[in-house]
Amino acid sequence: MATLYDNHGRQINYVRLAVTDRCNLRCFYCMPEEGIQYVPKKELMSYEEMERLMRLLASMGIRKVRITGGEPFVRKGMMQFIYSLSTIPGLEEIHLTTNGTLTAPLIPELKRIGIKSVNLSLDSLNKDRFFQITRRDEFDKVLHTFDQLLHHGIPTKINAVVMENKNTDDLLPMAQLTKDHPVSVRFIEEMPFNGSGSNYPTLTWNYKKILAHLQQHFPTIHKIPDPNFSTSANYQIPGHKGTIGIIAAYSRTFCGTCNRIRLTPQGMLKTCLYDNGVFNIKNILRSGATDTQLKDTFLEALGNRAKDGYEAEQRRKGKDIQESMATIGG
Ligand code: SAM
Ligand code: SF4
Repeated sequence: MATLYDNHGRQINYVRLAVTDRCNLRCFYCMPEEGIQYVPKKELMSYEEMERLMRLLASMGIRKVRITGGEPFVRKGMMQFIYSLSTIPGLEEIHLTTNGTLTAPLIPELKRIGIKSVNLSLDSLNKDRFFQITRRDEFDKVLHTFDQLLHHGIPTKINAVVMENKNTDDLLPMAQLTKDHPVSVRFIEEMPFNGSGSNYPTLTWNYKKILAHLQQHFPTIHKIPDPNFSTSANYQIPGHKGTIGIIAAYSRTFCGTCNRIRLTPQGMLKTCLYDNGVFNIKNILRSGATDTQLKDTFLEALGNRAKDGYEAEQRRKGKDIQESMATIGG
């Protein structure tokens, strides 16, 4: 079986595929209230193009894909596309990140397709705070999705971005969710990808502060081993069914074992979350490139990968982070 490495000897086996930049929520850490300028439809990768790229990447050593966005299920035909990914030889795992607003009715079918796990974004267990953060009244649907994921036994992680003056009162109740539910609740440092390039406060709630806060209230919380390539540092409270993860997404403590690349909805290949795109692989594909040429493009990008998120950010050459996470996929 083929194996892919970057120029720093890190194995690359995971693609985060952002299938759309459209979204039905307006999470304030991701987009301004008025939304973002969406990519014109013809500039979005088609399902056929994404499938071709994923087949190629699987033949090169990619074993895992995560469908993300934007909100994947606002794009028509998504379930058929996920099914088509499940037929790709070598692509062993399909995962999904969703805001949970449209997901609940699709869960039995996702289970049949063999989806490995779902990351559900939920930043608050309080309906009013949820509304303040997402600017939409969809809390009940997201909770229903959570219930259905558990009911169908799909491994589930909850992603919560921790924000000063917004949801810090939620940290303890969310950690408490792990008592009776076999879920992983992951607290994520807020990053500057809010679609406006401004209003990014100095990070108050970094991974150290999140952990200290949890330790103060759950003195017995302890470190547990992290899975390979994990971006979260993982913990457990004795007697709890689930686990707690802390993701130092802004502090970037995990770059040394980073195994992932990203494809954006308009076909940019990103070898780091913090770079501003290495190649537009869709344009190369549309210019009539052969599979061999496309493979060479991927290899070239991986041969010149930044060693960490700080170097990738420096390489943006003065182009400050302006983009929304909906155009990257998280
Ligand atoms: N719409 C889907 C969702 O919200 O789950 C998938 C796309 S969303 C961009 C993927 C993940 O990125 C979500 O878990 C979201 O919380 C996270 N995210 C978005 N903007 C972020 C930011 N500025 N800082 C940290 N995480 C962010
Ligand atoms: Fe939409 Fe996800 Fe961004 Fe929220 S985080 S606005 S749900 S893409």
